[in-house]
Amino acid sequence: MDTQSYDIAVIGLGPGGEMVAGRLAREGVSVLAVDHRLVGGECPYWGCIPSKMMVRAAGALAEARYVPRLAGRTGDIVPDWGPVADRIRDEATDDWDDTAAVDRLVKSGAAFVRGTGRIRGPHEIEVDEQIYRVGRGIVVNTGTTPLIPPIEGIADVDAWTNHDLVEARELPASMVILGGGTIGCEFGQALARFGVTVAIVEAGPRLLAHEEPEASDRLRDVFDAEGIEVRLGAAATKVTERDGHVELSFEDGTTVTGERLLVAVGRRVDPSAVGLDRVGVDPTAQRVPVDDRCRVTDQVWAVGDITGKGAFTHVSMYQAAIVVRDVLEQDGPAADYRAVPRVTFTDPEIGAVGLTEAQAREQGIEVRTGTVPIAETSRGFVHGPGGEGVLKVVSDADRSVLVGATAMGPAGGEVLGALSVAVHAEVPLEVLRSMIFAYPTFHRGIETALGGLD
Ligand SMILES: Cc1cc2nc3c(=O)[nH]c(=O)nc-3n(C[C@H](O)[C@H](O)[C@H](O)COP(=O)(O)OP(=O)(O)OC[C@H]3O[C@@H](n4cnc5c(N)ncnc54)[C@H](O)[C@@H]3O)c2cc1C
Repeated sequence: MDTQSYDIAVIGLGPGGEMVAGRLAREGVSVLAVDHRLVGGECPYWGCIPSKMMVRAAGALAEARYVPRLAGRTGDIVPDWGPVADRIRDEATDDWDDTAAVDRLVKSGAAFVRGTGRIRGPHEIEVDEQIYRVGRGIVVNTGTTPLIPPIEGIADVDAWTNHDLVEARELPASMVILGGGTIGCEFGQALARFGVTVAIVEAGPRLLAHEEPEASDRLRDVFDAEGIEVRLGAAATKVTERDGHVELSFEDGTTVTGERLLVAVGRRVDPSAVGLDRVGVDPTAQRVPVDDRCRVTDQVWAVGDITGKGAFTHVSMYQAAIVVRDVLEQDGPAADYRAVPRVTFTDPEIGAVGLTEAQAREQGIEVRTGTVPIAETSRGFVHGPGGEGVLKVVSDADRSVLVGATAMGPAGGEVLGALSVAVHAEVPLEVLRSMIFAYPTFHRGIETALGGLD
C-alpha cells in the first residue's frame, strides 16, 4: 500500500479543525483533513445552530403569548414543530449534508478524507487502515460524545441525545431530560414552549451548576412559571420502559415518566480513540492537557472541547487561530482563558464571563460583588413580562478590576459583550465607572452593579 505524505494532518473537523485545515492550506501548507462524520462538526449539524433555531422559534411563541398583556388581542397561537424541523433540515444542515463545507475545504487546497483517523506516532496517522506520513505535525479536533450515565437499565431504553432531538420531525408529548446544565435547560424550555410536558432531572442542588446561584435560582423560577417540572438533588437509580414510556426511579421511591428520555448530563472525551495515548496522553483523561500554544507534545496540537478550556465553538476557533500561527511560526499572543465568555440561550439568556464569585474566592482573590435585579432597572421595568434577570459583577478589590460577570436577562448574551471587554482588558474600575451608559438599555444596569462593589 502506498504511504502518502503531508505536512500537517488534521483529525476531526469541528469548527477549530476545519479552520486550521483551511487556513494552513491557503498558506500553501500541504494538509490532510480527516473526519468520519460531517465537516464542521457538532456545532452546525447537531449543536449551536439547530438548537438556537429551536430557541428562536420558542421565543417567538413566548413573545406572542405576551401580546394580551402588552398589545391587544391575538388569534389562537398553535405551536407547530414543522417549521422548526424544516429550518433545521433545509437552512441549518442542508439535510445533514456537508458538500458545501467539503468543497470549501478542498478549494482551499486541503486533501479531504472521510474516515476515522488515529495517531500512530508523532509523524504517522492511519485512516481506516491507510497510513499517512506527516512531516510537521498532527492537529486533533475530535470533540466529545454525549455521556451516558451508568444508571441501571439505561442501555435498554431508546434514550435520545442531542442528535435525535435535532433530527426529530415530530415532538413527543412528554420528555424527561436528564441533566440541568446548559443543553438540558435550553432544550427543556424550548420544548415546553412547544407544548411538550417537560421534567428536568438534575442530581446537583441547582440548575446550571457552573453559573452564579442568583442566575440558577431565577431560571428555576422562570421554569416553574412556565410549567417545567424541575427535580433538583435527584439522582436517578433505575430506568425502565413501561407502556411505551420511559420511567426514571429515584432513591426516595418516587418516579418520573415521559414518552421520551433525553440524556444531557455532559460530554465524554476519549483520548485513546484517536490514538492520543500514543503520544503520552492518559487514555482515561477527560481533558487533553495542552500548553498555551495548544501543543500536546512538540508536534501534536489539540483544539476544541477535548482540551477542557471551555466547550464552545468560539474557544475551538480561538485555539485554531493559535495553532495556525504556531505551525506557521508567526508571532502572536499565547492562549489566555481568563475571559472566556459563555451564554446559556434560555429565555432570559444567561451570559457570563471569567470567574464566578465562588471561583474567585477559591483562588484567594479579595472579592467584592455588585448585583442588580433587571426588574429594578428602568429597561427591565419597561420590558415587563419576560424581563427576569440579574446583573452581577465580581471584582478583585486589590487590583480594582473585574474578574467575572454575569448578565442574565433579555439579550443577556449581548450585554455580555461590554463585560467581556472589561474582564479581558482588565479595564480599571474607575474607568468603567466614568463611562456613560445609554438610558434606558439593559447594559446600563452594569453601572448600577458597579456601584454595589463598594
Ligand atoms: C446541543 C448543543 C448545543 C450547543 N450550543 C452551543 C452554543 O450555542 N455555542 C457554543 O459556542 N457552543 C455550543 N455547543 C458546543 C459546540 O458544539 C462545540 O463546542 C463545538 O462544536 C466545538 O467542538 P470541537 O471543536 O471540539 O469539535 P466538534 O464540533 O465536536 O467536532 C469534532 C469532529 O471530529 C470528528 N471526529 C471525532 N473523532 C474522529 C476520528 N477519530 N477521526 C475522524 N474524525 C473524528 C467528528 O465527526 C466531528 O466532526 C453546543 C453543543 C451541543 C451538543
